[in-house]
Amino acid sequence: MKMYYDHDADLSLLGGKTVAIVGYGSQGHAQAQNLRDSGVKVVVAGRPGRSWTQAEQDGFEVMTVADAAKVADIIQILMPDERQGQVYREEIAPNLRAGQMLLFSHGFNIHFGQIAPPADVDVAMVAPKSPGHLVRRVYTQGGGVPGLVAVHQNATGKAKEIALAYAKGIGCTRAGVFETSFREETETDLFGEQAVLCGGATALVKAGFETLVEAGYSPEIAYFECLHELKLIVDLMYEGGLSRMRYSISDTAEFGDYMTGPRIVTEETKKEMRKVLEEIQRGEFAKKWILENQAGRPSYNAIKQQEAEHPIEQVGARLREMMSWIKK
Ligand code: NDP
Ligand code: MG
Ligand code: MG
Repeated sequence: MKMYYDHDADLSLLGGKTVAIVGYGSQGHAQAQNLRDSGVKVVVAGRPGRSWTQAEQDGFEVMTVADAAKVADIIQILMPDERQGQVYREEIAPNLRAGQMLLFSHGFNIHFGQIAPPADVDVAMVAPKSPGHLVRRVYTQGGGVPGLVAVHQNATGKAKEIALAYAKGIGCTRAGVFETSFREETETDLFGEQAVLCGGATALVKAGFETLVEAGYSPEIAYFECLHELKLIVDLMYEGGLSRMRYSISDTAEFGDYMTGPRIVTEETKKEMRKVLEEIQRGEFAKKWILENQAGRPSYNAIKQQEAEHPIEQVGARLREMMSWIKK
């Protein structure tokens, strides 16, 4: 995979340019502050409210999205993905000029055609591979989090160089930046969160918890065994892969891992994963999510409510009261 580091990126390409950070949430606050500390001229764009006030308190010039689109050379769109299309059409598109760059940290709206920029602007992605607070913390400590860079449209002939300069400004080239495409980033991101990280993991935890409770074991013990301890295991995997985790657990646990894992996630499961991936690739999931938003999120809200009432949530809330080290 092609990789870029500090020496591959030239921050002076951002000299004299203004970067507008649209949205001052998790990614927005981190990218805005890192860029400013790297000497880049940054303005923050939003709507009146909490984020707007926070950005002002943090010393940024804050303006409406429409005004930012007029003054900025690079427009980094860091609003929630499901809001981006509408704000783009209403506030950004009418103010775009040839030669500007539209930047994203996730490819959803470009890849699935919710944002269709004119041919005379650059369209690129710089995506830190971590939550915003870590993007900021690691940068202030002199490091950077790994990132992705992709170019969707190269109108100026300099889109990749400018995107890499931006990646350097937020610290990502200190760690290393992988070159990808909007398609690869978007489809793998959706697949990962659905099949493994969020959908897969929560379904596994709930099924384990339910199995124990239905067999007569106490919900408290089931919570510890199926949810609470998952963090310890995942931390070990994060630090040193599967083998580090298996080194750290007992030999009994490790033998059980080898014997039972493949009975839980079976060839059937993988077959379903391939189906999920195909639905993502064909744009079926994206379409469902866009329609869901247009309809006011009926399924999302109903399932959210139902999930909040699951016994694992009730018992978990009580048990976490005992854990003084967990932030409330
Ligand atoms: P957040 O939900 O944390 O922040 C969203 C921001 O957008 C808030 O400041 C919010 O302001 C603002 N906003 C919402 N609606 C509007 C609007 N109509 N007009 C103007 N501003 C608005 O977003 P994230 O930082 O999580 O995500 C931003 C992007 O980064 C997404 O594309 C996401 O996929 C990507 N990303 C996120 C990562 C993460 O760790 N969170 C990791 C990598 C990529 P207000 O206070 O007014 O609501
Ligand atoms: Mg995602
Ligand atoms: Mg145990």
